[in-house]
Amino acid sequence: MSTFNQPSVSSFQPSIRTLMGPGPSDVHPRILSALARPTIGHLDPEFVAMMDDVKVLLQYAMQTNNQLTIPVSAPGSAGMECCFVNLVEAGDKVIVCQNGVFGGRMKENVERLGATAIMVQDDWGKAVDVAKVEQALNDNPDAKIVAFVHAETSTGASSDAKAICELAHKHDCLTIVDAVTSLGGSELRVDDWGIDAIYSGSQKCLSCVPGISPVSFSEKAVETVKNRKTPVQSWFLDLNLVMGYWGGNAKRAYHHTAPVNALYALHESLVMLANEGLENSWARHKHNHMALRAGLEAMGLSFVVDEADRLPQLNSVTIPEGVADEAAVRSRLLNEYNLEIGAGLGALAGKVWRIGLMGHSSRAENILLCLAALESVLSDMGAKINTGVALAAAQKALNK
Ligand SMILES: *Cc1c(COP(=O)(O)O)cnc(C)c1O
Repeated sequence: MSTFNQPSVSSFQPSIRTLMGPGPSDVHPRILSALARPTIGHLDPEFVAMMDDVKVLLQYAMQTNNQLTIPVSAPGSAGMECCFVNLVEAGDKVIVCQNGVFGGRMKENVERLGATAIMVQDDWGKAVDVAKVEQALNDNPDAKIVAFVHAETSTGASSDAKAICELAHKHDCLTIVDAVTSLGGSELRVDDWGIDAIYSGSQKCLSCVPGISPVSFSEKAVETVKNRKTPVQSWFLDLNLVMGYWGGNAKRAYHHTAPVNALYALHESLVMLANEGLENSWARHKHNHMALRAGLEAMGLSFVVDEADRLPQLNSVTIPEGVADEAAVRSRLLNEYNLEIGAGLGALAGKVWRIGLMGHSSRAENILLCLAALESVLSDMGAKINTGVALAAAQKALNK
């Protein structure tokens, strides 16, 4: 018989960090305390009433009347799988736009389902080129879906979701939109823009804990799921089954145990968003982005994405001259200032930093901390930057 010693591990006590990377973002204390409320059964009438509120709050956050608007019990990547696995069947043709990491994951999803991905490629840091999407639609009249990332977190580029959806509909295609980083942080209108299937995440601009993925399906998308020729390959993500639990009818059937406390947290974060007002939240993200930008540019750092396509909640800046080891800068920020910023990914690895201003992280004190800490570490390491000007520039923009 094997013997196992009792592990001598004590409670985990994480440091208190300031999260200014690509997510998770800072979680508001109100949301953390919601997590600690008493766990009740996931079929308890009180919980069911809370689920109805979550649905209404999500419909507001996404600006949609879609009945099928629910939080998938898993991270953003599961929301992505949920959209693809329900709408795509083997043999389908899907136009996938890629201008960063997350479009590449869409391609993976399409191909694993036995469908064909027609790729529309744009450089990392650029928005999706709408003219190229039109060309792909003209070249592929049998395409069924157009999929793209609204807010590319790997680069900080925003794409014109409204224009792409309009084009897709003109060619009788459904749209799948990754709004993991855009929801709550920048303008997003599911119904007005004609988005058919959308997925997001709890830990970016909603400032909730990671692990939940809000999704919404239009009536046309729901019809498509109901009229499939083949069963949905994933049992867990099959919306025909999930609807039995989250569906509008009063009778709820057990499908899986909902992450009860995580949903309290999502509920609280959505209440906070509704109290602030969605458009006010978009405006706050923009205002704080302008202040961070003023500080970084005063320091001499430059942005990767063209001004017109920049996401306010994800700022990619080039690493200044004289920095031999960019990872060492991030380590020092973490160790000396408890401040997390993001590294570059893929084509931008080692070339940029990604500074997030998402949700509760998007506030003045974080901007000033980030600029002060960066300036201190960079000048100490001999980088070529302007010193003594960033904070004043940011403060001036904050006062506007
Ligand atoms: C974070 C992110 C995801 C993945 O979400 P997870 O919760 O990490 O699974 C997908 N798409 C985009 C654009 C993201 O920023």
